[in-house]
Amino acid sequence: VRSSDGRYAPSPSGPLHLGNLRTALLAWLFARSQDGRFVLRIEDLDPQRSRAEHALRAISDLRRLGIDWDGEPLRQSERHERHREALGQLIAAGRAYPCWCTRAEVRLASAAPHAEDGTAAYPGTCRELTAAARAARERGGPPRAWRFDGGREVVGFRDLLHGECSGVVDDFVLWRGDDVPAYQLAVVVDDADAGICEVVRGDDLLESTPRQVRLAQLLGFDVPRYVHVPLVRAYDGKRLAKRSSAAQIDDLLGDGGSIERLVGWMGSSVGLVAPGLELTAAELLGRFDARRLSGPMTA
Ligand code: GLU
Repeated sequence: VRSSDGRYAPSPSGPLHLGNLRTALLAWLFARSQDGRFVLRIEDLDPQRSRAEHALRAISDLRRLGIDWDGEPLRQSERHERHREALGQLIAAGRAYPCWCTRAEVRLASAAPHAEDGTAAYPGTCRELTAAARAARERGGPPRAWRFDGGREVVGFRDLLHGECSGVVDDFVLWRGDDVPAYQLAVVVDDADAGICEVVRGDDLLESTPRQVRLAQLLGFDVPRYVHVPLVRAYDGKRLAKRSSAAQIDDLLGDGGSIERLVGWMGSSVGLVAPGLELTAAELLGRFDARRLSGPMTA
C-alpha cells in the first residue's frame, strides 16, 4: 500500500454526469500524480437503485475520459459478508443497536432538524429502550435497521481543501431492514480493505465524513486523508449550456466536441490550466499541481 492510493466510487443509479466525471478525473489526478494505485469501485449496494447498464456505462465513460485503474472494478454488492462482519464488530463493541422505528416515527420523534440539509438526527428512541420494551418490539418483528450508537460525539478531521472540519456523529443507519448494508459502513470497510489512503470525492459528502472517520477508528482502520471537491453546478460552454441534458458524456461531446476539450474545461474549471486548452487526461496529469486547486471550482 502506497500512501497515495486512491479511488473513485460511483453509484450506478444513473448515468455519470459532468460533475461525477470531473470528480473522477480529480481523484485519478491526485492518485496518479503521487504514483498511487487507483481503484474503481462500483457502489451497487442498493439492489433497487443499481442497474448493471449504468455500471457498464460508467466504466466506458471513465475510459473514454482517459482514466485508468488497477485491477478489475470492485463491486460493493459482492462484499456483503465482509460488511456483515464489520457490523458484528460494532455490535460486539456495544456501538450498534437494533431499531424498530418507522420512517414516520423517526420524523415525529426528532424535535427539530439540526443538520444543515434539514434532515433530523435520530433521537435514539430504540437505544434507550427498557428490557421489557425491547422484548415487546422483538416480538413484533425483525428490526427495521441497525443503528450506530454515535453518542453525539464531535469528530474532527482535516480536509485538504476545507481545512479543519468537525461534526456531531448521530445515530445513523448501519444496516437496513431489507438486509442491505448502509453506504456509511460499506464505504469505510471497502476503502480500508483496498488500502485507500486518500479519499477524493464530492463535497456533498463532507457532512458524512465525521461518521466515517469514527467508524474507521472503531474498526481499527487507518483514517484516510480527505479531499472534498466542489460539485459542478453549471457548465459555461455556450454550445453545451443550451442542452438541458448537457450532463452525460455523449451530450457533452455532441456537435463536434472532443474529449480533449472536455478535459481542458475540467482542468480550467478547477484552476489547473488556463481556459480554452484542449488536452488529454494524461497531459493534464503532467501539469497537475494540487496547490493550484484554489480557482473557481464551479463553472
Ligand atoms: N457512491 C457515492 C456516490 O456516488 C460516493 C461515495 C464516496 O466517494 O465516498 O455519491
